[in-house]
Parts: sequence; structure tokens; C-alpha cells
Amino acid sequence: MNSIRILALLFFLPYSIMATTVSVGILVSKKLTTVIFSPLSGDYVITADSARIILDNKDLAYLTYSNGKIALKTLKGEIGIYSTIRIESVRESGTFKFKPVIPYGRLRSYDDDLEIRVVQQHLRIINHVNLDKYVAGVVKSEIGITSSLELYKVQAIICRTYSLSNFRKHEEEDYQLCDKVHCQVYAGRCAVTDPETGIMYAGAEKIARAAEITSGIIIVDDNLELVTAAFHSNCGGQTANSEDVWSKFLPYLRSVRDTFCYRGRNARWKRRIPERKWISYLTKSCGLDPASSNFTKNATAFTQGNRARYYAGHSNIPLHKIRKDWKFKSAYFSIYKQYEDLIFSGKGFGHGVGMCQQGAMRMAEYHIDYKKIIHHYYTDVTLIEIGSLKYLLK
Ligand SMILES: [Zn+2]
Ligand SMILES: [Zn+2]
Repeated sequence: MNSIRILALLFFLPYSIMATTVSVGILVSKKLTTVIFSPLSGDYVITADSARIILDNKDLAYLTYSNGKIALKTLKGEIGIYSTIRIESVRESGTFKFKPVIPYGRLRSYDDDLEIRVVQQHLRIINHVNLDKYVAGVVKSEIGITSSLELYKVQAIICRTYSLSNFRKHEEEDYQLCDKVHCQVYAGRCAVTDPETGIMYAGAEKIARAAEITSGIIIVDDNLELVTAAFHSNCGGQTANSEDVWSKFLPYLRSVRDTFCYRGRNARWKRRIPERKWISYLTKSCGLDPASSNFTKNATAFTQGNRARYYAGHSNIPLHKIRKDWKFKSAYFSIYKQYEDLIFSGKGFGHGVGMCQQGAMRMAEYHIDYKKIIHHYYTDVTLIEIGSLKYLLK
């Protein structure tokens, strides 16, 4: 890759992409007014306006909204009332427990630092966290812990790419990402032990390792822009083109064959629908003329060998609209008649665009390299290490 292209990439990427720390708004919709912070590993220092208070790892900070400010207490007693509070690890990497008290919430644990500000009549909680640790936390929250290292690497790269392309979503609120589906679900650090239940997750270490091994790696397209790293549960044997689902053509989201997901949990589905209901839908909701030639034939027998974009060639009836209207598991289905009913026989689960998770999972089980998995589902993309760009530009 030449340096002009790399310069172009730097131009297109968000300003903060070179940063290795992200700021994540924690439980923002809960409008928290009282929370407890306690160190889990390492000592912390509290910067409360201009005051500095050392918080050793046996102490805790009790923070309450109070008349537009934050009241701070520790085990030593009341410390004071401040406008902003930042609690930072003394050494490079500390971990802490966080408990929402009002409103009540489950105990969680996080990596690195915490910032508390006042917004309207509640506290705004922001976790300043190393990007790889954040990525590990998201992968654990989103896909769980029953997978292989190679798949975790794939998910970590997708998650990192997605995070960086969403860095500006919360610019107005003064943090970069929220912890809900809107950005990506982040329920805290990728911990081996759940702080509330004590349940052990041996797989958590594997996830953290995958995030570290792939540290800084993101997926860019031919124009060196971050890709929309779409994924779904099961493609049914063939992924979908982006424009078939979202109208937008993206050169790297092309339909590809996938033989790895056939035996996946969500490879097949079936639905029985009375013929008269389906006919009524086609005429009333889709505007088809029941008197037109081939109407009944097409309505009661429809086959998708390869994935199609439209129902029976009608450019006003995209298959993804039918999927949405009928809450089908996928738009990759065929129809045949059985007595008074129609049987909808479908393949796959999800929109079908980008990576097929169950296919990728099976590929990883066959020890196929994470790079090959990514290149299989995303056409002509490049894996690039953000940290090496500065070096390459010298
Ligand atoms: Zn968000
Ligand atoms: Zn698949």
C-alpha cells in the first residue's frame, strides 16, 4: 500500500481514530443519581475539581447527585461536593466494580478509568477505556463465551471496525459510544468472574487474547474507508448483496456461497400460511392484480434456488419487505402448496448481508485462519493495522 493511499485513509478516518482509548457512556438512559465505585485491582486516584484523593483498593467512592453537583463520600467519611470527578487508575491498568444504587442495577466490573459529570438532574457516567479492552468487553457481551479463538479474532476486528466508524454518534453528549445496541452492547469488562453472581467464564480469557492479538486491526474497503462490517446469524448457504436488503450498493458486501453453515442451528425454517391470507397480502399490501396472468401460479409456487432480490420478478416487492411484514427468519425462501395452505420453506436466519456467524464459527472450528474468514465474507477488503500507519508514513 503506498503512502498516498495511507494519507487518504488518515484523511477519511475520524479524528480520534489514532487514540487507543475510547469514552463510553454507561447506562445513560437510566438517569443514575447514586452510584458506588470500588477498586477491584490496583489503587485509584480521584480528581474532584482541583482536589486529589487517593483511593486504595479497600476503599470505595459513594457518589450522589446533589443540587447540580456531585457529593463524594468514601469509607473515611464525607469528602466534599464537586462539579466533575475523574477516578483514574494509578498504574496503567486498573479494574473496578461499579454499582448503580439509584435506580438500582446489577453490579458490574470495568477496566481503566471513570468520569462522573452532572447532566440535568442526574449523573453522567463515562468509562475511559483502552480500545482493545472495550472490544473484548463487547465481544463477550454480544457473542458470549462458547466459541473458538479464531472466531473471537474475527469478531474483535469487526467490533473494532464498527466502533471506529461510530465514533461520532454521541459527539453532542461528549462521549464516543454508548453501551447499548445503538452502538454495541457493552456490559463491562471481559471478566473471568461475574462480579455479581461469581460465575466463572473460562472463555473470557480467550476473548481478551483475541482482542490483544488483533490489536489495532480494522477492515477497510478499496477506497480505504472503514467498512460497514455487517453480520447475521446464518446465511442459508448464500449471503445477500447489500443493495438487496438496504438499497445501498457496497462493493465489499457481495453475495457469496457458504457451505459452512448448512448444519448450523438456524440453517432452515418453515412456516405454514393459509393460501387466502397470502393472496390477500399480495393483492392488498403489494398491489398485485389477481386477474393478471400467472398470478395464482406465482402466488402458490415460488422457488429461490439462488437468492433473488424481488418476489417472482416484481420489482415493487422486495423479498426483504416480505420478510419484515411476515417476520420470517430470512428472505431466502420458496413457497409450495399443501392442501389449503402454503408452506414457506426458508434457509438461514437474519438479513444475510456480510459475515454469516454460524458459517464463520464452523470455519474457525476447522482451524481456518481469521483473515481467510474475513476475506471470504467481505469482498476485496484490506485488513490494516492502524498503529502501523504512523510508521509507514515516516
Ligand atoms: Zn450509541
Ligand atoms: Zn452461511
